[in-house]
Order: sequence, then C-alpha cells, then structure tokens
Amino acid sequence: MEKNCISCGLSFSFRKKFEKNWDEIKYCSKKCKKNKLEKSDKEIEAFILEFAKGLYPPKAIQARTISRTYFGVHWKKFHQRVLAAIRRLSHRNILMIHPYKKILKQDIFFEILKDEV
Ligand SMILES: [Zn+2]
Repeated sequence: MEKNCISCGLSFSFRKKFEKNWDEIKYCSKKCKKNKLEKSDKEIEAFILEFAKGLYPPKAIQARTISRTYFGVHWKKFHQRVLAAIRRLSHRNILMIHPYKKILKQDIFFEILKDEV
C-alpha cells in the first residue's frame, strides 16, 4: 500500500504505526504535517501551470527553470518547494513527470498534460 504525501508529494508506504488510521493518514512525516501547505504553495502551482501553458508547442520543462524564473537569484533555497508542487500536480494528473529524466540530480523534467491546457 502506498500513498502520496499531500505536502511534499513523495510517496510513502504503509507502516505498522499507521495500522489504526491508514485511511486518514495524509502526510509522510511529522515534518510534512507541520509544514502545512500555504497560500504561497498554491501560488507556485499556479505559476507552474501558467508557465507551462505559455509554451507553444508544449515541451518538457526543467523544474529549475521554474525555480529560477519564480524566485530569481535565491532560487536554490526554494527549489524543494517547487519540486513538491510539481509532484502534487502530477498526482492530480495535471502534469506528467518524465521518468527517464528523473536521474538528473535534484531536478525533474515535466510536461503539462494536454487536457488541462
Ligand atoms: Zn511529505
């Protein structure tokens, strides 16, 4: 059994300690439970979609391009939040993460899914 954390977007597996309330578990860790999504996270998601929709023809986008464009010179500090936003959007089938490019260190490539454009 696997689930996707609603905060960081990473998947996590069933563990013994989740036995009693697995259906209600939404976060992968205490840290994620504490870091509840903020308005700014929703804004990052909106920016990602806007950016992706602005590309014609649609093409794969590197996550760090989003971070750099949105956060400017200090983008590295916020890059994990951008990655989390991309993962959340992919779980909602709004965009697709390219699996073959995942190996790139600290970065992912993704593409918006047609139906959402
Ligand atoms: Zn998490």
